[in-house]
Amino acid sequence: MPETVENKEYKYALCLVDIKVLGTRTFSYLIPDNLKKDIKIGQPVMVPFGFGKGRMIKAYIVGFSDYLEEGIKAKYIDEILENEALFDLEYLKVLEWVANYYFSDLPTVLKTALPEKFFAKNLKNYRKPNKELKVLKTRKTSKTNTLTEEQQKVYEDIKKVNAKTSLLYGITGSGKTEIYFELIEDTINEGKNVLFLAPEIALVSQLTNRTIKRFGKSSVGIWHSSISEAEKYKVWQKLRNDEIKILFGARSSVFAPIKNLGLIIIDEENDPAYKQTMPAPRYSAIEVAKKLAELNGARVILGSATPDIKSYYEAKNSNSLFILNHRYNNAPLPKVQMVDMRLERGLGNNGIFSKYLIDEINKTVKNKNQVILLINRRGFSSYTQCLSCSTVVECPKCAIPLIYHSASNSHRCHYCNYEIKNLTKCPKCEEEGTLENFGTGTQRVEEIAGKIFPDMKIQRLDSDNLTKKNEHFEILDAFNKGEIDILIGTQMIAKGLDNPNVTLVGVINADLSFNLPDFRSSERGFSLLCQVAGRSGRGKEEGKVIFQTYNNSNIFLDKAREQDYDSFFENEIEIREAFDYPPFSKIIRIILSSDNNFRAEKSAMEISMRLKDWIDKQSLSERLIVMGPAPCVLEKIRGEYRFNLIVKNKLDEKGHNIILSFLRKIILPNDIKMVVDIDPMDIL
Ligand code: ADP
Ligand code: ZN
Repeated sequence: MPETVENKEYKYALCLVDIKVLGTRTFSYLIPDNLKKDIKIGQPVMVPFGFGKGRMIKAYIVGFSDYLEEGIKAKYIDEILENEALFDLEYLKVLEWVANYYFSDLPTVLKTALPEKFFAKNLKNYRKPNKELKVLKTRKTSKTNTLTEEQQKVYEDIKKVNAKTSLLYGITGSGKTEIYFELIEDTINEGKNVLFLAPEIALVSQLTNRTIKRFGKSSVGIWHSSISEAEKYKVWQKLRNDEIKILFGARSSVFAPIKNLGLIIIDEENDPAYKQTMPAPRYSAIEVAKKLAELNGARVILGSATPDIKSYYEAKNSNSLFILNHRYNNAPLPKVQMVDMRLERGLGNNGIFSKYLIDEINKTVKNKNQVILLINRRGFSSYTQCLSCSTVVECPKCAIPLIYHSASNSHRCHYCNYEIKNLTKCPKCEEEGTLENFGTGTQRVEEIAGKIFPDMKIQRLDSDNLTKKNEHFEILDAFNKGEIDILIGTQMIAKGLDNPNVTLVGVINADLSFNLPDFRSSERGFSLLCQVAGRSGRGKEEGKVIFQTYNNSNIFLDKAREQDYDSFFENEIEIREAFDYPPFSKIIRIILSSDNNFRAEKSAMEISMRLKDWIDKQSLSERLIVMGPAPCVLEKIRGEYRFNLIVKNKLDEKGHNIILSFLRKIILPNDIKMVVDIDPMDIL
């Protein structure tokens, strides 16, 4: 990897500056003769800025040139702040790719990629001398496990293929991590380094502990948004000195400057947390990792028990899919039972707890075991279902649930704006008065549980608990210590929890996550239910799982009950193909917003029309499909009215470039904002 560019001939350096009024931008500066031999990409420098002599501000060298735009008079760079570059050319290439692909810009991406403080004026405070350069060796502190026959075969197969990206699909507890370890060891023995990503900080720490046990502490580093800037700087220095063999982290660690990269492991690759939605750059750490690997000649291993549909499809079609079908020791997967809540209603129980679930909770807690209750609700959502034939009211064009709006008494599609007014009977079975709106009221689960089980210790865990710094961990800790009988939570509790005393998992309304207004809702629902089921019976005692449902003919729910990914995939991929959803297209989401509802809608319509026109003119309207505008599912956020445009791109890179070049030319009035989200994780 080249550390410097031959730059002695260049006259100008492109400097990235960060100024309040202008935001971050690049400007050309003359390189003084005395700095010519030292200057390189990635260095922080001081440059004059403003009229006349101006003031000195900090900047970064991001390129060189011999030419200057006409009419500009360049000033001289004043000083090189740190000789060692903070990033190199290869790294800059990755960042530039991120900026282009995700419709962002280099300064924004740099800000995300480099630790905040490196940009601030107090960089010098961090510039401590490297005292001793320890020579580090990977040293095993515990015996390695011998792979089972199945694991060994998969490991050897992975080694054999030439694919840049491979997918390891293995049910929970099948030993994916054991295989990662073997691959890590091989990579280190080849003298190369490893980046190991997990979707959440809690999972990062668990994995790190296990890795330290195997590879020793000295060669392992951690990087995520919750470690301090000073700590990050230390890790950064170590990375630059090539002292870290295995770097662990969440999404943002994909930007850490690892040298000599040989392998990137991405565990739980289907987790939406790998995609940053707010703020820009709205990047996917997985896509960035693939780019990084490509530029470094490294391999990427994706791992999951419920792979992303697109990853699975791609791996299957490129002979890079590897499967672990058995749990270590052939431990059984927990059995899942379904309770038909419509029957409960028939018996006069209109509550949200079935009699069966209540009985099982009582039994479990009496036996001194613990219970997890999942409310699989994501923020806001609602849907309408016929209680007679179980049909969920959907958009005929988009195959997503319609949302009921009481003000206009209408059901509306939030992708394409399709609308049905005054719906009184089920569109399928045509029965009158059987439609019911679901999705509200579940917040009351904790309250209701408190009434049904007055003597039990009940705790709720959801995003509210994330506001206080350690509350989330404290609750999990108390739960693991057995201080809580029933833990009620959203998807947060489905991941990673490893409490052998949990023998019952109940899902209050298993249909909910299948009925989000989002083409990925089946995928999300399936994976969430499999994950949460896996929390039950991890100890010696066998576990039970109960799914309460109002629709026991939902085929996806049935697949989740059987935890049968393959069969789920076969069903889902057909729908994706029929409706042109990924992997058969790539999606670009454009959000137009304004504090004026009318103006937001008007600008969305105008852009939609112009975009459709432009695509029509190139005769591409079958390959670049524009939907909307439609109001976003979350129609108003912080006083801004939001409208969605969705483009299904079936032309890969070419289509991507056509759409983005159109969007780059748009000039918006001041009161209208536009956000572009590439390969969005949801369309709320
Ligand atoms: P996964 O990552 O697929 O969920 P893990 O690698 O965490 O699975 O394995 C599940 C459990 O089984 C772990 O406690 C692990 O130590 C154990 N295990 C898996 N494979 C082996 C093996 N070959 N020898 C000993 N223990 C194993
Ligand atoms: Zn629609």
